Amino acid sequence: LYSIKFVFLGHAVYGLDEIKEDALASAAFFVNEDKIKFYTVPDANLPIDSSRNQVNAEIIFDYIDRFSTISQEPNEIVIYIVDQDMYIRGMNFIFGVANTKKKRIVLSLYRLKRGYYGENMVDVQKYRERVFKEIMHELGHVYGLGHCKDKNCVMSFSKSILEVDHKLPMFCRDCLDKLSGQIEI
Ligand SMILES: [Zn+2]
Ligand SMILES: [Zn+2]
Repeated sequence: LYSIKFVFLGHAVYGLDEIKEDALASAAFFVNEDKIKFYTVPDANLPIDSSRNQVNAEIIFDYIDRFSTISQEPNEIVIYIVDQDMYIRGMNFIFGVANTKKKRIVLSLYRLKRGYYGENMVDVQKYRERVFKEIMHELGHVYGLGHCKDKNCVMSFSKSILEVDHKLPMFCRDCLDKLSGQIEI
């Protein structure tokens, strides 16, 4: 039985209030609400890859071990929230990524806030819905789910923000079946 800890890093701390409810609601699908905690590390100085102006998600996973004052307890899933654009080897960008072995997730708010063509800030409701979906998706990975071929399922892989908007904030029947027995509601 897991608990879930959200850790907002750097400038992402200023976005906490806006999405706290949605973060809580998505995590509460997996664990009881009293097992969900929020932390902020405003002075986190994330290493930006200056050649592409993005953070490397893999470096964040390790960086945290060296610099964060907030540790990961046994049986705890940690969800790091950053507001820089993020990438991982072989991909131009990613919305989020899960390290299932370490039970760590990194989610970037950067593209979730933006419109289809990168313009600043979509409406808040849409942004919050995207945050909810992407947290569900990454937690789904930590709970053992792979990508789903059902494009409406929250576990489908989104290579664009259009696809994030297209999918539903919900697992399909098949994914729900795979989760059953693992989640504690
Ligand atoms: Zn995925
Ligand atoms: Zn599915």
